[in-house]
Amino acid sequence: MIPIHPLDQDPRLTLPALEEGDFYAFHVMIKPAGAQCNLDCAYCFYLHKEDLLQQGKLPRMSESLLEAHIRQYIAAQTGPEVVFTWQGGEPTLMGLDFFRRVVELQARHAKPGQAIANDLQTNGILLDDEWCAFLKQHRFLVGLSIDGPAALHDAYRYSKGGKPTFERVMAAVQLLHRHAITFNALCVVNRLNARKPIDVYRFLRDEVRPRIIQFLPAVEPVSFRAVAPGYWNPDELPVSGSPRARPGQPDSVVADWSVDPEDWGYFLTRVWEEWLKRDFGRVFVDQFENVISQLLGRGAQNCVSGQICGKALAIEHDGSLYSCDHFVYPEYRLGHIREVHEGDMAFSERQQAFGFAKYQTLPAYCRGCRYLQLCWGECPKNRFVKTPDGEAGLNYLCPGLKKFYARIVADRAVFLGRMGMSTGNCII
Ligand code: SF4
Ligand code: SF4
Repeated sequence: MIPIHPLDQDPRLTLPALEEGDFYAFHVMIKPAGAQCNLDCAYCFYLHKEDLLQQGKLPRMSESLLEAHIRQYIAAQTGPEVVFTWQGGEPTLMGLDFFRRVVELQARHAKPGQAIANDLQTNGILLDDEWCAFLKQHRFLVGLSIDGPAALHDAYRYSKGGKPTFERVMAAVQLLHRHAITFNALCVVNRLNARKPIDVYRFLRDEVRPRIIQFLPAVEPVSFRAVAPGYWNPDELPVSGSPRARPGQPDSVVADWSVDPEDWGYFLTRVWEEWLKRDFGRVFVDQFENVISQLLGRGAQNCVSGQICGKALAIEHDGSLYSCDHFVYPEYRLGHIREVHEGDMAFSERQQAFGFAKYQTLPAYCRGCRYLQLCWGECPKNRFVKTPDGEAGLNYLCPGLKKFYARIVADRAVFLGRMGMSTGNCII
């Protein structure tokens, strides 16, 4: 048993005194091992933080910072549940004793009537029976990264020595099922697997069998290791649909492994067709649940398709808090939890401005778009192309997003009918 660390002083939480019924909630992704990972995936958007943030050889969150984060994160929230998301890099590199300590500290600082939940995003390589027994006992929701059948998965997800990882990830899938652990599959849709939507979807549905399938488009500008999102030179941005706004061109604006915008639309649309035909109400695909919720006017369930964002922050192993997991750059560092209370940073004017900018900085092209209320310009980190009339700030994925939303809207009578609703219930 690791000894309990003595309580140390936190900066004071200066949010206004809470009235009965006030609701303060936010979400922080924790990177206890910094950007360190036991794999070397080609498309990783985070590995380069080791250099950018000068994390050194062994970035590790200290016990006292861990306790400060847990204490402040719980103290600043008044919702019925506080969710801790452990990510990286690879969080299992911290070892099981670290997570045993996590649940001890959470129990110690939990507030009456408030549930604590944990998510662990992992590549699965280090999972074994001991890990699984722990995850099961403490009800961690696991997110497992897997990109499709072996040839597609191994195309970009390999070890430090360039070795394939598919077999090891599938061993983790078997372990998770054997221990009856709830897990989601996170599939990064890149330049290659985007062209095989049905192979990828059927493999995930039939072989991996997660609770929810999540698709994440691989998109980064070529300059992502050095230039923070939003700091691009507008004069250098290509027009959407032009050759430079697609991967695989010598002077392309995006990294070579990025999903082609048209392929992103093709991928989602093909999976949607298969899902609607065979799996509606039976298999859960994150994007589809989300877009149906939006279409019914019930709001977005994820930040990228919401009107505003800014409630999903990230904390690095050294206690620095950033506006978002995709904005871990010095330009978006909000401060340090030893100097300013995490709750004050999360609800600061600066962070609110970050969240409102998602809507306020949309180009006129988006404001006039038929699908605005489903898309809201997607994630600001991907807004590095120009509109056809030359305005900067359009989302790189726009052509594919339009294709997908057009299909959803065209099919709405079909799926709403199955839900006992009509198109009169829709916002579009
Ligand atoms: S910047 Fe993108 S990923 Fe981050 S909170 Fe906003 S929409 Fe979500
Ligand atoms: S589909 Fe394209 S134009 Fe429409 S809101 Fe989304 S990014 Fe903007």
